Formats: sequence, structure tokens, C-alpha cells
Amino acid sequence: MPLRFYNTLSQQVEDFSPLESNTVRMYTCGPTVYHYVHIGNLRTFTFQDILRRWLRARGYRLLHVMNITDVEDKIIRNAMAQGKTIGEYTAEYEKAFLEDAAALRLETPEKLVRATEHINEMIDAIIRLGEKGYTYDSEGSTYFRIANFPEYGKLSHSNFEGHRAGARVDVDEYDKDDARDFVLWKRRKDNEPSWEGPLGPGRPGWHIECSVMAMKYLGETIDLHTGGIDLTFPHHENEIAQSEALTGRPFVRVWLHAEHLMVEGQKMAKSLGNFYTLRDLLERGCQPEGVRYLLASVPYRKKLNFTFDGLKAAETAIERLRNFKLRVDTETFPEGRVEASSARAQEARTHFDAALDDDLNTAEALAALFEYIRETNTAMDAGDFRSGNAAEARDLLSHFDSVFDVLCPAAQAGAISDEEVERLVAERAAARKARDFNRADEIRRQLSDQGITLEDTKDGIRWKRK
Ligand code: AMP
Ligand code: ZN
Repeated sequence: MPLRFYNTLSQQVEDFSPLESNTVRMYTCGPTVYHYVHIGNLRTFTFQDILRRWLRARGYRLLHVMNITDVEDKIIRNAMAQGKTIGEYTAEYEKAFLEDAAALRLETPEKLVRATEHINEMIDAIIRLGEKGYTYDSEGSTYFRIANFPEYGKLSHSNFEGHRAGARVDVDEYDKDDARDFVLWKRRKDNEPSWEGPLGPGRPGWHIECSVMAMKYLGETIDLHTGGIDLTFPHHENEIAQSEALTGRPFVRVWLHAEHLMVEGQKMAKSLGNFYTLRDLLERGCQPEGVRYLLASVPYRKKLNFTFDGLKAAETAIERLRNFKLRVDTETFPEGRVEASSARAQEARTHFDAALDDDLNTAEALAALFEYIRETNTAMDAGDFRSGNAAEARDLLSHFDSVFDVLCPAAQAGAISDEEVERLVAERAAARKARDFNRADEIRRQLSDQGITLEDTKDGIRWKRK
């Protein structure tokens, strides 16, 4: 059976193959860096990591773009309240996001892009939308006229024909009941940070950034677009309207949306105050691998209720996996191979692969592995397991771990990734160039605490792990 995904657009499970050759072009709506991300956000990012890894396991190459939303209503409000520029305000949370992602072993997308670095392209896109008759101005702001895009509503499967033509919405987030012409460019108010240009002083709305960055790096039609289910409307509906109005072509072939992480029946959300950050959990002594396992273990289209018991159970499951690996690696088994044990490994692999091919059914994939472990432990106790079978068991575990990535304990995995070291080394070089020696020293200390030493060479800075 081929790889299959549920497509929010068609509301069907569809066979998947990329549009062009072997490369999957994929776009992910990244975090809004106005605060630390919570583990609800991280559920969606973990789903995307499992998706990335499974696509690669199935032989595809990836071109995955994720944006960092570093300009939007909440960011502006908070930055102004603290007397900071947007950049000063968001830098801390962007860094924290990357650290959290590394702690959860989320692979870094091939391209991470910031909204504020694409403002001119957004202005261009809005002007082109205007030339095609999709926009109008009101009180210095520019809006998208949804009545001019008859397919509006095709992703959220809503009929907006009866909406009040000309009614406008200026905020970035709103409900389906409130479907209105949405803002593309917001006129500058009070002392808000703003950009100059042909649209007048102002700043982009949230939605235009993803259309512009997705098409800039991935082309007019992309294979996969992912995000949490709450982004379906209005954000992704608006991305479709903007992009397809611009190009006249389908923007995205398959839309994948992750269901929410819940707490006592409610969506985990900053606005509800019912959230935990990864930092909160690590401070309580939880393991990052446990959090990763918990978030990955429930198929992404099912709601997942967060409890500390659930997190404990995830840690226990990892313990069982590690104990089994230890047994395979350290016990001495007689030479040879037992056919029944080989068949068991083969069957587990087939079942594991089929489950992940089936719209990433992670629960089923884990069940296949645990069944194998249970039966194999019994076979080992009975002497029905030989050294040839141990090699097969190791292969199966490493195949599993290339997707789930929980076997290696955090202390051994190294708390800081190579990418994060590179980023800090570059930031330190920039700080030194700007003669900000305090910051440069701080980064050297921070790296040293993480076991990284820096050496000045004639070719620049070299780093190594102690
Ligand atoms: P934001 O930073 O608010 O734009 O959210 C980042 C990502 O997290 C988006 O894809 C959201 O849809 C997703 N998200 C927000 N809350 C939750 C939740 N409780 N469970 C799963 N995903 C969520
Ligand atoms: Zn987006």
C-alpha cells in the first residue's frame, strides 16, 4: 500500500506522491514568537517532525520551509508595553523556541524564515493582488475582498455567500462566524512599529506572510502544508485565497492539520492559562524524551488529553524499550538464527511500516513494536533466540528510533545540537564585530556550560565538544 494522508481540502484519505520527482515541498506555519511555546504547540511541531522523518524513511527528499511569525498583533502590543523594538522582543522567544525544539529532537526544517525579513515581498504581493482587483483600501489599510474569490471557504468547508459584503476585520485571529474581508496591510496606529512604502506606513497582516514565503521558497503549488487544526480558518483559508488569487493555480495539494492537545476537555491555550511549557515540565523533573513520546504516541488527527499520568506512562514505555535494547545488546545468545523469531521481526516491521503509511498511525506502529518485544522476551527466556535474531532486533529498533527518536537518553544525546552551536557561534561573531563584548563573553560561557570549547584560528572560530 502506498503512503496515504488525510487531506483537509478533499476530506478524504489520499495516496501521496510529490508533484515533482522525489522531492517533497512542504510548508509549516511556525510559532508566533510572543511567548514561550506550550506543549500544545509542540504537539503540532512533533507531528511535523514525525511526518518529516517518515517521508525520508520512505525515500523522499525534503524541502521544508517553516516561518517564524515575528510581527503580529500580540507581539506589537507586548513589545510596545515593554518599550522594546519588535526584534528585541522576539529574539528571546525565537531562541527559546529553537532550544525547546532541540530538546524535543525536532529536526530543523531545511529553511527557517522570518516574516520581518520579507516585508518588501509582501508589499509587492499586495500590490499585485490590487492590480488583479482583489483588494480595496479603507482608512489607510488594505483588505482582501473575499466576495471576489468564489472558492473562499473550500478548506474549512463553509459557505460564506451570505457574509456581509464589505464588512472588514482588522485582527489577525477570528472565528468562522465572523468571516469578513481580512486585512492585508494595516495602517500604522499611534506609535506602532511600521514599515514605509507604496502602501503607506503600516505593517502586514498575519496571513499574507505565509503565502509569500511559501511561494517564494517552494513555488506556486506545493505538496504539503501543515499546522494545527485551529489554523484551518481563517489563516489557511486566507492563505489559499491570497495565493490562488495571485497565481490562478492550486496553492497546496495536501493540507494536514494536527488535532489539539487538551487539558481537562479544553484546548491547551495561552489565552485560557491552562498550559505547560516544556521548561515547566523539565523543571518538574520530566524527561524530554517522555514528552516527545507522549506527543507522538497518539495519531495526530486524534485529540490528546494531557495528564501527568500519561507522561509517566510514556516514560515507562521508553524504559521498556531501553531495557529490551539493553538485553539484545548485552546478553549472549547462541550462534545461528531461529526462523520463527526472524519471521516475528519481519512481521513487526511490515506492520510498523503499514501503520505509518496509513496517515501516520503512530499508535498502531507502537503497538506492533511492543507486541514484538513481548513475544521476543518470551522467546529469549525459552532459548528460542540466537545471535542472528539479535541483529534483526537491532535493525528493527533502529528503524523505529529513526522516527520516534527516544532510545538515547538526553544526557548522552548532548543537550545542544550542532545547529544550535553554529547559531550561537555566529551570534557571538556578530556581537564581537558590533563590539558587544559582554554578549560575546556570555555566549562563550553559555557554550562552555554545554561542554563546547571555542578556538580562534586564522580561518575563524572552530568549536569542539569537550
Ligand atoms: P501559534 O504560535 O499560536 O501560531 O501556534 C503554533 C502552532 O501550534 C500552530 O500550528 C497551532 O495551530 C498549534 N497549536 C496551538 N494550540 C495547540 C494545541 N492546544 N494543540 C495542538 N496544537 C496547537
Ligand atoms: Zn501560516
